[in-house]
Amino acid sequence: MAPAQRHRDSDTIAAIATPPGAGAIGIIRLSGPHAIAIARQIFQGERDPLTMKGFEASHGWIVRGNQKLDEVVLLVMRSPKSYTREDMVEISCHGGPMVLAQVLEAAIAAGARMAEPGEFTRRAFLSGRIDLAQAEAVAALIASETEAAARAALRGLAGELSEKIQALNASLLQALSDLEAGLDFAEDDIAFISREQLIIRLQGAGNELAKLASRGQAGKILSEGIRLVIVGRPNVGKSTLMNALLEKDRVMVAEAPGTTRDVVEDSFNLKGLPVRISDTAGLRENAKPIEKQAANRTRKALNQADLALLLLDRSEPLTDYDRLLLAETKDRLRLLLLNKSDLASKLDGSELKRLLAEEKFLEISAKTGQGLPELRERIKEQIWQGKPASEDALAASQRQLEILDQCRASLEKAITAAKDGLGEELIAADLRKGIDCLGQISGETVSEQILELIFKKFCIGK
Ligand code: GDP
Repeated sequence: MAPAQRHRDSDTIAAIATPPGAGAIGIIRLSGPHAIAIARQIFQGERDPLTMKGFEASHGWIVRGNQKLDEVVLLVMRSPKSYTREDMVEISCHGGPMVLAQVLEAAIAAGARMAEPGEFTRRAFLSGRIDLAQAEAVAALIASETEAAARAALRGLAGELSEKIQALNASLLQALSDLEAGLDFAEDDIAFISREQLIIRLQGAGNELAKLASRGQAGKILSEGIRLVIVGRPNVGKSTLMNALLEKDRVMVAEAPGTTRDVVEDSFNLKGLPVRISDTAGLRENAKPIEKQAANRTRKALNQADLALLLLDRSEPLTDYDRLLLAETKDRLRLLLLNKSDLASKLDGSELKRLLAEEKFLEISAKTGQGLPELRERIKEQIWQGKPASEDALAASQRQLEILDQCRASLEKAITAAKDGLGEELIAADLRKGIDCLGQISGETVSEQILELIFKKFCIGK
């Protein structure tokens, strides 16, 4: 850690901890070695903060000079029994933005420094009260928009991810030390762990990692939701379907083909799952410039989507454009929908069968709502395929998921090396990489830059 950083970590910090805007109560939070002394300078109340015990509160006034700023309740928390493990003071004020700004200014004038985003949680991490996985769970909890997402984050905060990472770490460290002990006796042909045992242990760890990654992916879906994109040729019913799924008239529906020129986005709640959905103008090969732009955006929307809904018009024969879209989405997670099932079918069933092989399709009518409940069901099924139940989901960031993947890749390499009878050093090198990955989740081996990036995403006051 840079010296400047170390210095800053010993400052006493202050921030408004409640959301912006007016509220019944607003809280100013202080943390650091001088938190209680600073509070004393700006507080006139029934008790003296300096003599108050941890978790003791006092009624009184915040003052600046001889001017009273607000009537408050002041709570003292003493190190190490606080969120940051430092001395902390929380001042519950009246929740107006002006009042809070003035009380904060008074604290700053008395010697505190404005906290940076996430700095309280960062201190909780640096003091060892929580590990990095728990700190990231705090961010996930605050960002949760659904009950299921909040529960997945709480599991992380309670240490479920941290414990699994610790257990894996212990198991890999043990394997590494057995391997290294064997190295010292290599000339005598003494092995402290047989190759079979080693492989079994590494495979066990790999399975645990896979389970964890899949629980994390479920958590990510619960918190971030999924991205759906509707594609289809003009006039096939994309806007109508989007409106039907959103249950409101968000998108203009028109008789003339090609009215939805751009990508339109909105979101809806699919049985507790936040779904962001976009309706696209289509991908036309020989399009006019403005349409080309739209086609590029469609490709981009397709690339970003977790699932594509490809719409065909059942009441008309297939066109080249339909065939293009079928080919374009072939290797993606997609659902094929034959729209306008309320009209007579003019689609050549045999060609469609040939194009789709084993793939199933669903007949719907975006206009009458026919088949839509089943469509919602299928969307959820497709997204949730192979994932654990939402009760097992663990909030995970993209960063954590990527690291879990890297760790798995290192273990795979170590297993292959062990199976191929390669030397201990080579296996040990891969194992060390895997162990380093785990440390980036727990925070043991994470770099200062990564920490900055993680805590920057927090709000000020957390
Ligand atoms: P887009 O260009 O793909 O967005 O298509 P729109 O949603 O604008 O729909 C084009 C036309 O098809 C409109 O007149 C819709 O009312 C009509 N339409 C859409 N879905 C259906 C359906 O399921 N049945 C029938 N009969 N008409 C539909």
